[in-house]
Amino acid sequence: TLNQHPSGRHFLQIPGPSPVPDRILRAMCLPTIDHRGPEFGRLGLKVLAGIQQIFQTQHPVAIYPASGTGAWEAALANTMSPGDRVLMVETGQFATLWQKMATRLGLQTEFISEPGTCAETGLPLAWRRGVNAALIEERLRADAGHQIRAVCVVHNETSTGVTSDIAAVRRAIDSVKHPALLMVDTISGLASADYRHDEWRVDVAISGSQKGLMLPPGISFNALSPRALEVSKTAKLPKSFWAWDEIVEMNKGGYWPYTPSTNLLYGLHEALDMLLAQGLPTVFARHQRWAAGVRAAVTAWGLPIQCADPAVYSPVLTGVVTPAGVDADAVRKLIHTRYDMSLGTGLGKVKGRMFRIGHLGDCNDLTLVATVAGCEMGLKQAGVKLAGSGVQALMEAFT
Ligand code: PLP
Repeated sequence: TLNQHPSGRHFLQIPGPSPVPDRILRAMCLPTIDHRGPEFGRLGLKVLAGIQQIFQTQHPVAIYPASGTGAWEAALANTMSPGDRVLMVETGQFATLWQKMATRLGLQTEFISEPGTCAETGLPLAWRRGVNAALIEERLRADAGHQIRAVCVVHNETSTGVTSDIAAVRRAIDSVKHPALLMVDTISGLASADYRHDEWRVDVAISGSQKGLMLPPGISFNALSPRALEVSKTAKLPKSFWAWDEIVEMNKGGYWPYTPSTNLLYGLHEALDMLLAQGLPTVFARHQRWAAGVRAAVTAWGLPIQCADPAVYSPVLTGVVTPAGVDADAVRKLIHTRYDMSLGTGLGKVKGRMFRIGHLGDCNDLTLVATVAGCEMGLKQAGVKLAGSGVQALMEAFT
């Protein structure tokens, strides 16, 4: 009943969709224009140049009127042929969903995983760690006939709050001189965690609008490499809507082969202005600082952080493991009802065992102090015994 007539702002602290800044909402309120007219061409060229800076690439970036899942499919459909073998790594729910998709598209997937469960939490170890590049290297070395066509990894696993070292994966592929393409899902990493498309020589990167870019859901991206474009000319999986060739060709003039999401592109234009004016190093540092503060809070509570390896803590979100016997979703529900705050649910193998605090995009120190306060009150009301005050620890971290 407390929430029957909510007042003030809802706290959207899930790890995407993230809150959309007023500046972006206003930019999207402009009238929709002719997507074949000259004004649109200028907008198209601007957003295509800006998004290259965000991916840190000189090469084309395809923008789709689709959610991230569409861009996942685009990456595979453009580069693979029926029956091709792809190597994927189980880091959490999103890696699992991408692997299922690859199977449905008719690819042979090898899904490698760190074995075992964690003694402290009972959770699968693979869901508490990043990609182990040594396992990839070992598998590729054994593939002397070069049957494996692609290595697919998730940069920031949104279901766990664990990042993966993409440069290390690139080194693993290079060290055995394997020709497999490197495909990276940076749907929740881009514009929050450092992502370097050209430097890491990623062939296809996949991203979406509703996370670090601070836009509503609805557009997604494929950042390409010259090699990916070359491979796409002979790859045999059926593709039409997703096909890069026509998109890249029409993008040269700032246009698309079909009707683009004009108003989301207005929003993207505004988001690019905001992010590039700040500079990517500042954007990344801001996320690292928030993440360190939230981890200090979770540690003060005495609860385990889902990510068990400090080298790969996510700057985007933090997974909080609840004590055995405490249903994390019941805690989330209580917090939603009492404090009008949304937190991320535990997905797949960690359902009910953890919740996720998003700290990305349009937030600040005080948003997060309030977020942690809401979690702390909710945990206490749910009967969880806390070792200390996370709010206090967070305020100390921030000051
Ligand atoms: N991959 C990752 C890492 C994600 O976080 C998400 C969505 O949260 C997806 C893929 C799927 O994207 P979408 O829900 O936009 O289709």
